[in-house]
Amino acid sequence: MKTYSIFASYRLVASGDLKTVLTAAKALLDARSAPGGESENFLIFEHDTGRQVDFDLRGSLEDVLARELPPAESAPPDSASSDSATAAKAGKGRPKLGVVSAEVTLLPRHWEWLAAQPTRASGTIRRLVEEARTKEGINPKRRAEALGNLLWCLGGNLQDFENATRALYALDTGRLFSITDQWPGDLPSFVRNWFNPAAQRTAPVPSGSNQADPALDPALALMEDLFRDAPRQGPGEGSQTARALELAAAAGARLGPDSRIADLGCGTGAQTLDLARLTGADILAVDILPSFLERLEEGARKLGSVSSARIRTLRASMSALPFSDGEFDALWAEGSVYNMGFREGLSAWRRFLKKGGVLCVTELTWFGESRPAEAEAYWSREYPGIDTAAAKLRAAEECGYVPAGYFPLPPRCWTEGYYRPLEGLIDPFLKRHDGSVEARRIAEGLREEMEVYDRFGDFYGYGFYVLIKR
Ligand code: SAH
Repeated sequence: MKTYSIFASYRLVASGDLKTVLTAAKALLDARSAPGGESENFLIFEHDTGRQVDFDLRGSLEDVLARELPPAESAPPDSASSDSATAAKAGKGRPKLGVVSAEVTLLPRHWEWLAAQPTRASGTIRRLVEEARTKEGINPKRRAEALGNLLWCLGGNLQDFENATRALYALDTGRLFSITDQWPGDLPSFVRNWFNPAAQRTAPVPSGSNQADPALDPALALMEDLFRDAPRQGPGEGSQTARALELAAAAGARLGPDSRIADLGCGTGAQTLDLARLTGADILAVDILPSFLERLEEGARKLGSVSSARIRTLRASMSALPFSDGEFDALWAEGSVYNMGFREGLSAWRRFLKKGGVLCVTELTWFGESRPAEAEAYWSREYPGIDTAAAKLRAAEECGYVPAGYFPLPPRCWTEGYYRPLEGLIDPFLKRHDGSVEARRIAEGLREEMEVYDRFGDFYGYGFYVLIKR
């Protein structure tokens, strides 16, 4: 199914299927024509190509939907009718979105093959085209081109636009984000999410401006609703947090009651509470989602007053932290630095550490140089930052750290620790949001991620990186 986005100036009004976006467009238009309504211009983009598309928005919402939604959506593609009858039925409305009949010329062997397929010729060809389109859609170069088209339409006069385009076509997301993070409105998060739908899934908008607000963003509110009841929002386990602490201690960064730790992207705080138990340190737990922090506070209260007094929470974006230089003995980020990008996080956070302080992060890592193409295609779409441990360690060195340890998280941290509890939450979540396209999209994305892990989990996972500030 095609995805569209509608922007009013630099504000992302809605993203989703055609119906979602047309509904949003119609609402904007109606608000505009209401007495005293503000005239807000908007543009609709199609995600596959990034091109701007126009729709006929006259009449009521029902009129618009009837006119613009592909008839194929209401009629099953291979209904009992013959192909030409389907085309005739679709004659109503604008043909560009409907089913259209045209002649195709094929060799006899092509016709033979088509005739042997369980669906009719048209149905089979449609399926083949859709498959090819999906393949194109996950090609990073095509994704970059589409985003280039979209940004060009939206903001040719944005600051440093040309350098951003160059970084985009070079697929250098680090450089791209460093520019687009300075852009107004929803553009920073939109650009990041374009390459990282996984971020929308496990965690929302890493905007530099502390803007991510579930009260304003329905998709974010859904993510929050799904994940807040999970024991963790990413793969991990107390024993692994303990192991990272041991490696840090062996490198001279022993954390105890006199230490200060910031836990960045703490979620509902599984590792925050482990850190509190294991070190007795002062911990500042930072996340962008208020209800995650509330859960964490409940958990801290259960620890007893001595430990809980040492845990504070802060709602802030990890890319705009209000800290002073050298404030912390340790920075902790389990399953969260991907929101900023590994290099970006490591560089931006370094100054908050004392000299000799330790940064412990987990990051998606290829286990070795070779892997199945399907796994590669999936992750280059979902998280292009994925790389080998060798490459991550080198990046850490380049950012001014001495690696003091690396280990891969055991697979059970993904399966038992993370996916299994989430699985049980998906159906109740879908029930709570019955009919929400966005909720279904989130659930489907998560299920796909689990299936990919099931099949290819030998080839990737989280690496735990223990890094000392040089
Ligand atoms: N550390 C936890 C949560 C990992 S999920 C665990 O391992 O279970 C990633 C977390 O990052 C989520 O809680 C999400 O709300 C948070 N997050 C996403 N973007 C963020 C940002 N820009 N600033 C701070 N936190 C962010």
